[in-house]
Amino acid sequence: MKNAVRMLLASAVGAALFGTAAAQTYPAKPVTMIIPFAAGGPTDIVGRQLAQAMTKPIGGTVIVENKPGAGGTLASEFVKTAAPDGYTILLHHIGMSTAPALYRNLRFNPLTDFEYIGQVVDVPMTLVARPDFPANNMKELVAYIKANKTKVNLANAGLGAASHLCGLLFQSAIQTEIQTIPYKGTGPAMTDLQGKQVDILCDQTTQTTQLIQTNRIKAYGATSSKRISSLPNLPTMAEQGYPQFDVAVWHGVYAPKGTPKPVLDKLNAALRQAVKDPGFTSSMDKLGTLPVADSAVTPEGLRSHLKAEIDKWTPIIKKAGQYAD
Ligand code: ASP
Repeated sequence: MKNAVRMLLASAVGAALFGTAAAQTYPAKPVTMIIPFAAGGPTDIVGRQLAQAMTKPIGGTVIVENKPGAGGTLASEFVKTAAPDGYTILLHHIGMSTAPALYRNLRFNPLTDFEYIGQVVDVPMTLVARPDFPANNMKELVAYIKANKTKVNLANAGLGAASHLCGLLFQSAIQTEIQTIPYKGTGPAMTDLQGKQVDILCDQTTQTTQLIQTNRIKAYGATSSKRISSLPNLPTMAEQGYPQFDVAVWHGVYAPKGTPKPVLDKLNAALRQAVKDPGFTSSMDKLGTLPVADSAVTPEGLRSHLKAEIDKWTPIIKKAGQYAD
């Protein structure tokens, strides 16, 4: 018994020493930030800007790798099983909190399989349609969908994506089920929307702001509680009678469970500097995003928000379950 305790202590001390030694030279090679959706889409846009902003404070390159599929859950699973050495990290969004309710056999537990580095930025969503869609405002949109429910389709980035959640809330609010078309990200979904191959999409402002500003797509409402400063003419969903549409796509940075604490501390310090980086904040501001409080850019700030969001979305998703793909 005594020997077992001694061995356990020795291995804990060994791991801590290893962590300290590793942190001294960390990063000795590029850090890979895994993005759970397709290149060119909203999460990719946040991820690339963030990776660039983290590069200087971390003292090494942060590169981005897209691992899309299964509404973002493939990337989480990949990072769960990656080496816990600080060289593989995950940028994910609200989907980390909706996946447990959506997937019966999820192969990771968001609350126990990761280390938490901190939150990044909040991104509102917008309900948009192809440029030639007949409806010109929310009222017309709802009337058109109800009259043409077998013809209209709604693109999303798969079960667990923010666009899926938003579409679920929309169908539930208007009590009409429409056909959904899943993509590996809203990047490719937006290409098809602009190409008039799909009808409507609920997508983050990081991708839609400039397209709405230049009238390349139609927009019906924003999912934020206040109007988005870069899109002042776009009414909120709540203003139009749909208060259940208060969806902020929050983002977090995660590492595999067991990543040494000194390495996590370095990642957190780099993240805290990156979210205040003037280049990062100005490009994010232009895309309608909202900064998060300093207390959110911490391991506990991310973990407690994740837990609160799982508790918030689980009953809502279960209730709207009939609309899940
Ligand atoms: N954020 C995703 C993307 O980058 C899509 C989504 O969550 O709806 O494609």
